[in-house]
Amino acid sequence: MTLKAIWRMRNDPWIDNGLELFGHIVEEIQKQHPRVVQVRWEPEALEITVQNMQRFVELLDDALRQRIAITVFYMAERKGEKRPDLKPFVGFNQQPPAQHPPTYQEAKRREFLQEVFSFPASQGRGEPKSCLLCGERINSDSKKLTLSVYPFVTKIRALSGARSKWSGEGLSGFTPHPIVCPFCYFLGSLVWAD
Ligand SMILES: [Zn+2]
Repeated sequence: MTLKAIWRMRNDPWIDNGLELFGHIVEEIQKQHPRVVQVRWEPEALEITVQNMQRFVELLDDALRQRIAITVFYMAERKGEKRPDLKPFVGFNQQPPAQHPPTYQEAKRREFLQEVFSFPASQGRGEPKSCLLCGERINSDSKKLTLSVYPFVTKIRALSGARSKWSGEGLSGFTPHPIVCPFCYFLGSLVWAD
């Protein structure tokens, strides 16, 4: 089954950086596997045509694994043993590995990619909401926005429109767990691998 998807630019420096990187990764896959996926840049969007979804997710998973090994980790020697270490400036460095974005978890990445590309076919229960970053309608079981996905949010209310809103008299309404759509979550987390 062919799936054609348009990934629009968000006019957001962080998310659009992720889209550009994602486009380059898919272009590399297309070079080797032109029958699995085709990609085309529009002025304001990336158009992706997937001919074989299962194969595409496998190839993307592999491409991300290889890229992440180089861009997010470096080899450190400890007790005479070389092992990969997460670079200290990576936004989720201090979080336990199980809380890293699934893009960076070997055990969860493939399933997460499947979820991203099946969206919005899988509908969750509850009232649909809007993605904080792009305004798309999303399911209530969408991902929580975190600093590792979008480092411009902060817990300092005055600096973060994402976590508070202007009520006319001042900033109010601290939202502890704002959620974003799988596309923005994926692109936002991907930027660390740039
Ligand atoms: Zn979004």
